[in-house]
This record gives sequence, structure tokens and C-alpha cells, in this order.
Amino acid sequence: MPNPQFTKPWRGIPREQIHWNPTVHDEACIGCGTCVTGCNRLVYRFDYERKKPVVVDPLNCMVGCTTCANTCPAHAIEFPPIESILALEQRADVHHATEDDLIARRDVLAWPGHVPHPDRLLTLRVEALEDVAPDVRRVVLAPAREGDCFCEFVPGQYLELFPPAADRVSRAYSVANLAAGDGRVELHVRRVEGGRFTAWVFGDMKVGDTLQARGPLGAFTMRSAPGVPLLFVAGGVGFAPVHALIAQQLRQDPERDMRLVWGVADASQFYALDEIDALVGRARALRVVLAAQSGLPPAAPTRAAVVGTVIDALAADRTAWAGRDVYAAGPPPMLRRLAAFFAAERIAPSRLHFDAYGT
Ligand code: SF4
Ligand code: SF4
Repeated sequence: MPNPQFTKPWRGIPREQIHWNPTVHDEACIGCGTCVTGCNRLVYRFDYERKKPVVVDPLNCMVGCTTCANTCPAHAIEFPPIESILALEQRADVHHATEDDLIARRDVLAWPGHVPHPDRLLTLRVEALEDVAPDVRRVVLAPAREGDCFCEFVPGQYLELFPPAADRVSRAYSVANLAAGDGRVELHVRRVEGGRFTAWVFGDMKVGDTLQARGPLGAFTMRSAPGVPLLFVAGGVGFAPVHALIAQQLRQDPERDMRLVWGVADASQFYALDEIDALVGRARALRVVLAAQSGLPPAAPTRAAVVGTVIDALAADRTAWAGRDVYAAGPPPMLRRLAAFFAAERIAPSRLHFDAYGT
């Protein structure tokens, strides 16, 4: 029998609308029963005659769980691609349902201990706002109190921002600029359909507002030895940490051999092209390709443009990535496709550095 405890809506989505349950391949199954006894949701029963598991209550299966497949000694259990669940996780309503659950059950879920957090919590003041592209807002924040400063952040890192509503959890945004000693940080905020934080950023945030920020955080920082050729790949506002990393490299070594491939869905979503042109102007070996799935950005001698995805751009020019360490930031689906592309090209994982935070 489906158990109501297990078949209740998942993050607000009726369980019946989510295809997630095991499929047993009988021909591979050796009948050990591990899956049947190991699942405490009674998804399976055991056919004692055939010595085979039977999926009787698929809706009891916990969305995203693959424990029985992981513990099956015969690899006889299959699940739908995890991408189907990751796609749901990226929906604002699903994210909000998790957030609401965390807030509602705080008395049960909160860890009661306390250790000093290694990162600092500062109050920042909104110093400038600028709409730089449809649905992208550049936000400049500065310390609200004299003496406070995220002065030591490393290019590629991100901050957690706490919206003014005290009952909300934080959102992560990559820092787009280099540390300048005055504590200013520049963020590129993309409007998320139905997103609570971005509703505030695009609807209510104004110069002079304050908010709490924690950081700096993240390990998407330069790990490559000096002189190693680099490829940067950005998707959408993944350009923010990539911009900071390129600026860092140019400051240290203007001769460094670097490529940037930046992709968006539509060419109107590119922004900061003047900053890219300025970077190219300071560099001796930085080449830029802009990839838009529709439209083309304004032509310029400092950058090439292609119609297509970042994968299309890379597939068309092997010199863009062969022999280079890769630093990529952007939406998780783009990063997964990128990982598959480089795996197919047998690029060592140690050369790949991916960042999905703050985008
Ligand atoms: S994935 Fe988890 S919940 Fe689903 S059947 Fe297997 S062990 Fe049970
Ligand atoms: S764990 Fe694997 S081999 Fe064992 S009964 Fe289940 S499906 Fe068959």
C-alpha cells in the first residue's frame, strides 16, 4: 500500500507527478534481497518463489534516493537520470518550499551547538545599482561601518547575502571585481522567475539600503601554476567570477595565454562588453569568443562571436581548450554539458575547475 507518510507532495509537487522509482532488471538480479530488506519505505516486496524483488509501491520511493541501486551487488537496479530531479531543484517554487520547511521546522532541525564561524558577517550598504542587461542588475555594495571590510577576498570567491526579511535563508553571489582595499564588492544579479531574493533586488532595493553579508567563501580560485595556458568559460552571470579571475591574471602577468568563451541564450543578454574590450586592450594574449544561441553581439575587433552554445564554440576551435586549464562558472546544466564535453575529449579532471555558486 502506498504510505501517505511517503507519498505526500515533494517540495510542494504532488508525488504522482514525479517519475522517480527503481526498475529491476530481472536478468541481472541474483536474488540476494538486499534491496528489499534495505529499503525502509517498503517500495519492494520479495517474490519468494522466483527469488526476485518486485516494485510494488513505487510512489513510496524517496525522490532522489538511489540507495538500493548503490547497494545492489549485481548492478541490477536502474533509476531515471538524476538530471530530472536537478531540474526540479532549480525551480524557484521548489527552492522556496525547502526554505519554508527549514523555517517551519527550525526547532527540530536547528543544530543547537555553536562554533565561531570562520567567515565574517558584515553589514553592507547598497552604493550603486545599474540594469546592465535585460534581467541582470549590477549591484555595488560597500561596508556600512568604518573599519569593516571584505578586503582580503580572493578573485572567484562569493558572498552569502541575507535579505532584509529575517526569516529567509541566504543567497550566494560571486564577486565580480578585484579586492581594492576599500571593501567594495560588485555583484551581477540575474532575475529569477518567482525568486524571492531577486524580487527584492529588482523591485525594492535602493541605494542606501543595508543588508548582511557573510564571506568570503568558495574555492573557485586560481589553482594553476604560473604560465599554464588558461581557458575561462562563463554562462550568463557566471561572467562575474570569471571577470575577477581574468583581471587578477592580467594584473599578475599581462602576457598570460588566456581564452574566454562567454555564452548566453540571446545576444541582448551580454553586458560589460566595454570591460571585456578593456581587458583585451591590456592583455597581450587574451582572446575572447562570445556565443549566443540567438542574435549576435555588436562586432568588434577585440572579440569573435558565434551563434550557438559555449560547447559549439569550443567544438569549433580545438585551440580554445587543448592544453589549457579550464575555469568555468555558470548554470549547473551548462557545467554538466561542459564536463561531458571534456570527459569525451579525455581532459584530466584535475585540469577542470567548475563553479555553480553565485550564478
Ligand atoms: S531509492 Fe531509496 S527509497 Fe527508493 S526504493 Fe531504493 S532504498 Fe527505497
Ligand atoms: S539487491 Fe540487486 S541483486 Fe539483490 S535482489 Fe535487489 S536487485 Fe536483485
